[in-house]
Amino acid sequence: EGYRYRERTLKSQSFMNEASEYMPGGVTANIKYFTPHPIVMNKAKGAYVYDVDGNEYVDYLLSYGALKLGHGHEAITKAIGDQLEEQGTCLFGTPHHYEVEMAKQIKQLYPSMENIRYTNSGTEATLLALRLARAYTGKEGIAKFEGHYHGGFDEVLVSVNPSLEQAGPEQEPNSVLESKGMSERHKNTTITLPFNDLASCEEILRKKHQEIGAVIIEPLQGGFIRASQSFIEGMRQLTKEFGILFIFDEVKTGFRVALGGAQELYEVQPDLTTLGKVIGGGFPVGIVGGRKEIMNITSPSHSADVFDISQSQTSNASDVLFHSGTYNGHPTILACGLATLEVLKKETADVCNLTSELKTELEHLFKQYSIPMLAVGEGSIFNIVITDKKNISHYRDLQASDFKLRKKMDLRLLLEGIYTKPLNRYSVSTAHTAVEVEKTIEAFRRVLNDL
Ligand code: PMP
Repeated sequence: EGYRYRERTLKSQSFMNEASEYMPGGVTANIKYFTPHPIVMNKAKGAYVYDVDGNEYVDYLLSYGALKLGHGHEAITKAIGDQLEEQGTCLFGTPHHYEVEMAKQIKQLYPSMENIRYTNSGTEATLLALRLARAYTGKEGIAKFEGHYHGGFDEVLVSVNPSLEQAGPEQEPNSVLESKGMSERHKNTTITLPFNDLASCEEILRKKHQEIGAVIIEPLQGGFIRASQSFIEGMRQLTKEFGILFIFDEVKTGFRVALGGAQELYEVQPDLTTLGKVIGGGFPVGIVGGRKEIMNITSPSHSADVFDISQSQTSNASDVLFHSGTYNGHPTILACGLATLEVLKKETADVCNLTSELKTELEHLFKQYSIPMLAVGEGSIFNIVITDKKNISHYRDLQASDFKLRKKMDLRLLLEGIYTKPLNRYSVSTAHTAVEVEKTIEAFRRVLNDL
């Protein structure tokens, strides 16, 4: 098995050997790493990626869900070309048309996002959302859910993937630091809540609401584990009651579980929302939006006399929430995002239907081989969970699933030309068709036969 993997990916291996001399682990993001060694891609088109050894794969990683139109969609290449030709090398350092155009589109699809700001990644978006919540409520601490990921900074890098020994009681989880080098204070200032357990959340919030300015949530954990309707509605009610802002982190679920994200699915309005991934059309972007009165804390335009030049720009700095960034609202990226939206308005239903079909066929196939499995997810994103459970509703359910068999299967699938990073989710794009679904099912059949 290991031999076949190595033999098929010799050039990837030697690439990684060289890369490791220059970058720790040979990677620029830890998530890109897996054993025996990552496969190195160098070409892509539509639903396919190609590695340095010349192997072809149907791509279900899609850059962690970001590429909803697949690779190199003509609407994207055209948007880039047009924007560059018309406006030059893409940055004015001034306000511009694409910023407003995208804001209008976002507000239509996500009515809770009355006002928005752009950032350069999902991480920066959640960072800004939390600062807004602290400013608005005057409360320092935040609460997040066990198993939920909101980016790479200290405040939220708590109990994302804790070992069950460290995780503490299920109904009142510990706050476990996920990285070396983090400040210990986040064990106390970031409170960890149990997902889909409203009674326990209420108890924790009742005790600690005076220190909590925000509850941030992935409405579908990892993009696939659904909050129950009553849980989301209950949390909306509780946060309001306790003067806490409710933040939907829709970096993953936005434009995927529905065009209008999880808030469309649940018909629940958060105070603040973060978006990213799909809306960058393959380029780095983040968006924060929400109620006007909250977003307005970032507005620098409070000065009464606009022509009073004696006022230095920083004289009232502490009255305004600082938010800046050289690349915020990058016109090329927003042009790609707008082009993506145009395509998705027409093709979202098709992608969702194709994904459903794939899930159903996979479940059917696993049943034939008597492997207990759930294809869990909504819209165009799902995960394969090998488990006896009837339902996956939180982090610990997922931890109890058979990761060993799943990884073995994933590595075998790589040999059969099906790509996702081992143990990762499956995302589907508008470039995927019935042909790729059939290829995928056939590949799974061969792998399950061998297992
Ligand atoms: N929030 C969620 C829900 C995410 O899935 C991610 C990325 N996986 C982020 C935030 C961080 O986004 P980025 O990688 O663009 O910083």
